Amino acid sequence: MKKTIATLALATLALSGTAFAQAYPTKPITVVVPFSAGGPTDTVARLVAEVMSGDLGQQVVVQNVGGAGGTLGAGQVATAPNDGYTLLLHHIGMSTAPTLYRSLPYVPLTDFATIGLITSVPMTLVARKDFEPNTLEELLAYIKTNGENVTYAHAGIGSASQLCGMLLMESTQTVMTTVPYQGAGPAMTDIIGGQIDMICDQTTNTTSQIQAGEVKAYAVTSPERLANLPDLPTTKEAGLDLEIGVWHGLYAPAGTDPAIIERLETSLQAALTNETVIARFAELGTAPVTAEEATPAALTEMLTSQIELWRGVIEAAGVYAE
Ligand code: ASP
Repeated sequence: MKKTIATLALATLALSGTAFAQAYPTKPITVVVPFSAGGPTDTVARLVAEVMSGDLGQQVVVQNVGGAGGTLGAGQVATAPNDGYTLLLHHIGMSTAPTLYRSLPYVPLTDFATIGLITSVPMTLVARKDFEPNTLEELLAYIKTNGENVTYAHAGIGSASQLCGMLLMESTQTVMTTVPYQGAGPAMTDIIGGQIDMICDQTTNTTSQIQAGEVKAYAVTSPERLANLPDLPTTKEAGLDLEIGVWHGLYAPAGTDPAIIERLETSLQAALTNETVIARFAELGTAPVTAEEATPAALTEMLTSQIELWRGVIEAAGVYAE
């Protein structure tokens, strides 16, 4: 008898869960971007959110929660209600933070439900336009000679720009003066303004500035040259062993109803096959992932393997945050 009541109760719960998911969403959804507005993660999020809004019939609103290399925003979503109304759009930093931060207030693989991969964006080495070196070769030599006198901007420990700078310092065996920002948007403003020397950041934040001649560009970190910046050599052809693609993913807090995750996955796929999104991504030097990659399984696999990969790199570099 007890078992029947329990089974009935479970069935009712399951039913109400499904009915809830079918109605979802009934109000606006917030997508937390763990960096400042106007930067590359924000740019990707706003393009995707706009199409998802139309697909879901509810506003998908981007909220910027910058700070601590993306860990503040990610931490906020980890403890948000798992009702499908608070999501996180984060990048590669999701996989570096567990090693970089000795006391991270969340566990990426267990505190989040994955929805899907979005894109992988190459990075570019850029500097204020009157920075002395003109080629990557000259830049590396300049960094070696001037070390701490070179100011390098990044979006906090665990951000893509910090990682790229770390690899750059490794390869030149030098230490530059690093200046943290809450996102690469404001960092770029200071580079254009000449207050800081350089940054390595995603093409989604550097393409228009390079094309407009507002910054000096040295190389792109992709294996091949990019169609939108054809004159820019790859790091490899310019003699630097630094290849990195900044992958982005969409997450919900752990325990979110699987039917809601499925609805969000479909909506993400709609955004990534949208012609305007594809065209804008191409202008910015990137492309959406395939439909098979815009899935929870593919994002979980990426996150798992990248946590391992970056653990090795970070431990070798010996760089940690508190
Ligand atoms: N691109 C930045 C980074 O270095 C973050 C951002 O502002 O989107 O990770």
